[in-house]
Amino acid sequence: MEKQNISSGLSRREFLISSTAAAAGLWAMHPVFSSPSEAQTSSQFVLPILPYPYNALEPVIDEQTMRIHHGKHHAGYTRKLNAALEGYPELSRLSIVALLHNLPKLPDTIRTAVRRNGGGYYNHSLFWMAMSPEGGDRPSGMLKTAIRRDLGGYGSMREALSRAALTRFGSGWAWLYVKDNGTLAIGSTPNQDNPLMLGVSSIHGTPILGLDVWEHAYYLNYQNRRDEYIHAWWDRVNWPHVEDRYRQAVEA
Ligand code: MN
Repeated sequence: MEKQNISSGLSRREFLISSTAAAAGLWAMHPVFSSPSEAQTSSQFVLPILPYPYNALEPVIDEQTMRIHHGKHHAGYTRKLNAALEGYPELSRLSIVALLHNLPKLPDTIRTAVRRNGGGYYNHSLFWMAMSPEGGDRPSGMLKTAIRRDLGGYGSMREALSRAALTRFGSGWAWLYVKDNGTLAIGSTPNQDNPLMLGVSSIHGTPILGLDVWEHAYYLNYQNRRDEYIHAWWDRVNWPHVEDRYRQAVEA
């Protein structure tokens, strides 16, 4: 279990919370959370440490882009998520996945802030882990089999995800995700939305690979050439990690 914790990029605190909440039946454990409480907890989401140096993904993603993207953008989402949850200790005890699953149930006062910043916190945590300086191989094992079964093989999957990323108007993400019926699918979401956001996002399931197509992800190096960024990005995909996520999603 500890290995899953590390490989999925969650802090130990989040992992423990996630396990505990799941075991207890998430919302049954927290039936009342509509009003801020005076009782504060010290639990806070923490910016994950990048699993490689800032320059490790060059030339595909340059060092300065990584420094700003992780150290400013991702840090900002993390800080604003914590700020939104201040005064809601019942919510602060939940995992990020539980928060995003249950956006429609959150208080009106913080729903949009959690959607934007909780989404940004989760999406970037996944993004860093799903890339590697040694990336770019091909999917293997049960993930390879599922891609062939549900998406027609690696080439078709790659083409579909690239198209979803290229045609996402404005800022957003393209996803490879596992639907609730266990099949793989490809789609995209605007802003910091993701497939975890039941009742909010038009696609629903468990993301296992995401591609950030906000301009902040590529503009310094590629300017307006999103297609070149997408094409180059495939050389950094960490398929063993994506396969771990796939296994966790279908075995959950
Ligand atoms: Mn980003």
